[in-house]
Amino acid sequence: MRITAVAGGVGGSRFLRGLLAAAPRAQVTVIGNVGDDITLHGLRVCPDLDTVMYALGGGIHEGQGWGRADETFAVAAELAEYGVGPDWFTLGDRDIATHLVRTQMLDAGYPLSAVTEALCARWKPGVRLLPATDDRAETHVILADDDGKRRAVHFQEYWVRLHAPQAESIVFVGAEKAQPAPGVLDAIAEADVVLFPPSNPVVSIGAVLAVPGIREALESSAAPVVGLSPIIGSAPVRGMADKVLAAVGVSETSAAAVAEYYGPSLLDGWLVDEADAQQAARVEAAGIRCRAVPLLMRDADATAAMARAALDLAAELKR
Ligand code: GDP
Ligand code: CA
Repeated sequence: MRITAVAGGVGGSRFLRGLLAAAPRAQVTVIGNVGDDITLHGLRVCPDLDTVMYALGGGIHEGQGWGRADETFAVAAELAEYGVGPDWFTLGDRDIATHLVRTQMLDAGYPLSAVTEALCARWKPGVRLLPATDDRAETHVILADDDGKRRAVHFQEYWVRLHAPQAESIVFVGAEKAQPAPGVLDAIAEADVVLFPPSNPVVSIGAVLAVPGIREALESSAAPVVGLSPIIGSAPVRGMADKVLAAVGVSETSAAAVAEYYGPSLLDGWLVDEADAQQAARVEAAGIRCRAVPLLMRDADATAAMARAALDLAAELKR
């Protein structure tokens, strides 16, 4: 079975671990979000790609869900002594090695997809990890100050430094001119199943969909597209999905509202948490097959059961 999944960072990678446990013989391709990418201290940092790579490759800080295990921060401490910022984004020493390799290869002319493949040769994540695009397409958030003045900040600054205040809109800078990375469209066209993990629908999966050609390929894919809700009850399980959903005009924070936001042209099936079972009828009325199952990634078993439920729904949709 060929499974193609679109993924962000922490939520996406946790789900992917469950997927590999649920379908150990499947060939899994992950289309990773690059909207979070940022250049810091001259180093190209790809937080979501690295979270997937470390999590599936056994290098992740388990408690945190991102960053390296056994990390140290000597470089960050030295930078602070120089007074060199940004002081709101701390790079760990082990992590810096990844960014050094990446930056060096990018500077030598290799595209991000080739660099990611090279980094994965060490980590062996058990999936083929493809950046959505080799082009630069970073997510920026437009904020309106009290006096009505607008400013744009990089998504990392919005989330890590400003802790996700109310946002006016989201811009995927450069995305309109970006092209899907090699292999992305084929991975969609050749998939037996396409999955949307419970990743952020706007700044993770939405940033991937903003690359021209990817949404269209998903809409016309023969394979069923099944997603899992990142919202349980009236709040994201973690993070700021409610804030960025509001910024794209989705004022209601619910599993059904996210399904409607993706829409029936994109989604064939949608899993909501058991607590949201009453929303299933509304999702089905929108033309999306819906099931209610436990959606908390409490541990490896619970996460594998979620992946199994998504694959079961996909199989049902194929018949
Ligand atoms: P990020 O790039 O690190 O923010 O990670 P993702 O975009 O891949 O995933 C973030 C989303 O995962 C958030 O919107 C969370 O609500 C969602 N999430 C995190 N843990 C869980 C969980 O246990 N269950 C569900 N259903 N969603 C979760
Ligand atoms: Ca992310």
